[in-house]
Amino acid sequence: MTQMSLTNVTMQFGPFRALTDLSFGIERGEILGVAGPNGAGKSTLMNVCTGGLQATRGSVVFNGQDITGFKRHSRCGLGIAQTFQIPTLLSSVTVGENLLAGQIFGHEVRGAAMDIPLRDILYLTQLEDQLTLPASQADLLTRKRIMLGAALATGPEIIFMDEPLGGLNAQEIVEFLQVIRHVREELGITIVMVEHKTRALAEIADRILIINFGAFVMLDTPGVVLNDDHVVEIYLGK
Ligand code: ADP
Ligand code: MG
Repeated sequence: MTQMSLTNVTMQFGPFRALTDLSFGIERGEILGVAGPNGAGKSTLMNVCTGGLQATRGSVVFNGQDITGFKRHSRCGLGIAQTFQIPTLLSSVTVGENLLAGQIFGHEVRGAAMDIPLRDILYLTQLEDQLTLPASQADLLTRKRIMLGAALATGPEIIFMDEPLGGLNAQEIVEFLQVIRHVREELGITIVMVEHKTRALAEIADRILIINFGAFVMLDTPGVVLNDDHVVEIYLGK
């Protein structure tokens, strides 16, 4: 079942068009990978979905409701969360307080309807032993776990993750992919992740969307997408 759909979405920054006439649907409960060269419009696309940006033209529909003009906090209130390339944390407080802040924000914008117990979030993000660690002392993988945990604490139905694996080493990538898988499996939350590490994406994603120059190229299973001649060309920069 389609949870979010974009129809003819265009995002214009002055004269520059970062997204052109993009249409596709996100299925409830899937892990959708988004890939494409640098500057293709991936982060812009995430923001158009989460309310960091409002599309210039076209529409964004979530659970049957047109949310095109909604700001980020309103979309968060509907169950749409986002994590960023560079972890955004409250660095002067502990891991536990970061999750609590996420939960309080979630309550503020959407009520307690979709509350996920903090204990479950600590377990899923493997932060159980780091509850009292000051966030400023956390390593990169831990900061990513905290950011995901705080997003989960808002009680989302869908999370958009921008380059979650960036800066992690091979072992950390394996660990974080496992956390992301568990979030989908245990909580049934839809995951949309931008990632240029295509091998990792192929491992975790049900489907992969490729965009180039802000336009739709392809949306299919990893096996089909990553063996497509046109997609390979785009990546080799021919
Ligand atoms: P990606 O995440 O795929 O690397 P982005 O979505 O960040 O690409 O950017 C797509 C294009 O839009 C780039 O050319 C970028 O310079 C431009 N862009 C992104 N945000 C803005 C903005 N706020 N104002 C002007 N141009 C922007
Ligand atoms: Mg980006």
